[in-house]
Amino acid sequence: MADTVQLHVGLDDTDSLAGGCTTFLASLIVEVLLKEFSAKFTDYPLLIRLNPNIPWKTRGNGAVCLRVKVPYGKVDELKKRLVEMVEEHSDMQASETDPAIAFWEGNDIGDGFRRFYDEALRKVIPLERALNFSRQMGCEVHTYKTDKGIVGCLAAIGSHLDEDFTFELISYRSRDYWGKERKFDRASVLAMDAAMHGTFNNVDPETGRILIAPHGKDPVLLGIRGEDPATVLQAFRSLIIQEPVERWTIFRTNQGTDAHLPSIPAAISSVEPFESVCIEGSVSEHPRRIQGGHVIFSVRDATGELECAAYEPTGSFRDLVSSLLPGDHVKAYGGIRLLDGGRITLNIEKIEVVELVQVLLSVPPTCPRCGTKCKSSGLWQGYRCKRCGLWLQKPDVVKCSRDIQAGVYLPPPRAHRHLTKPLCRYSIKPKEYRNAEPIEPWHMP
Ligand SMILES: [Zn+2]
Repeated sequence: MADTVQLHVGLDDTDSLAGGCTTFLASLIVEVLLKEFSAKFTDYPLLIRLNPNIPWKTRGNGAVCLRVKVPYGKVDELKKRLVEMVEEHSDMQASETDPAIAFWEGNDIGDGFRRFYDEALRKVIPLERALNFSRQMGCEVHTYKTDKGIVGCLAAIGSHLDEDFTFELISYRSRDYWGKERKFDRASVLAMDAAMHGTFNNVDPETGRILIAPHGKDPVLLGIRGEDPATVLQAFRSLIIQEPVERWTIFRTNQGTDAHLPSIPAAISSVEPFESVCIEGSVSEHPRRIQGGHVIFSVRDATGELECAAYEPTGSFRDLVSSLLPGDHVKAYGGIRLLDGGRITLNIEKIEVVELVQVLLSVPPTCPRCGTKCKSSGLWQGYRCKRCGLWLQKPDVVKCSRDIQAGVYLPPPRAHRHLTKPLCRYSIKPKEYRNAEPIEPWHMP
């Protein structure tokens, strides 16, 4: 295979709130790579979500990596063609995007790239560091407007989805339909959701809201998330869709895996704004509901105290959080937000109640002689049985039942990040993936 080159193509931030979509461009590139360059895909196209807690990125913070083997003689022509496609399809006017495409040649992405990906999942990578890393690795990078898109490109190239991963089939609309209402049968989505156990986050159970279709002007018709390519394709084919589907592509992805949430808690004193973190400690203050319906409480560990928030869109999750009491031992996961005045708060994405504090209540004792409930004789004066006259000094102490139990709790699916691991995936055994050619059919056309 000396006449072929293993090429990794990273794409970031070609979308905008108004129009484009990085995965749409990726699916166009897939077609070009296969038809014009005889490319052999060595993995599914990878849809990589990065740290969702960076305020200047779009909420999805998604990048794409394509891993292909291409004939040695075609590499330069291929790069030129793909760069042209980025320039043609990216929304260069949108203020919030900084499109970028990166190429790296090599068989094994190695530890440097892997660490870069891990960091981009949880932290804010300074641009200077990304530029240095790119030079050091010998990447060819094309950025537009600013260099910011380089971070996502490099992280996508470094993505290693060998521990946990899912798939998403994303289908796209024909151009005449962009911006119009998406036409598909809602009932067929509910039926698919009930029938297809290997899929997740199709419908929000609390509101009945359909979650597979976006609402914006982007070219995405709908996306189905699931455990394996065959399942998402079968689920897609079971839907009744009432408009033309221009194309679809199955992506392998880190969505639904909690990849951004560390399992080892950080010291509260060490957390930084915009990081995705886990902290562990005791609830130090009664949860309180503030204006806007948000629920706020605090957690303390040996190094400090951090305010935690369950925001209004998390729905019933706030009621659960409200029933925590000072002394409860919890692990809280989420993103660090920076508030006015430099204060930080943890936007909770998941909470594990490790141990509940016992709440004890003193009640008048039951008479041991005749079984009657005694009455208090007044403050500090003990209890007297009205029936037989026995006097008892001490009250009975009973354990109060709590409205919450130890366990892991998440907001409802409609409030999830793309990366949030849904509860239905907690019972799934770890999968193994050996990099290999994707199994047909994984794209159309
Ligand atoms: Zn009695």
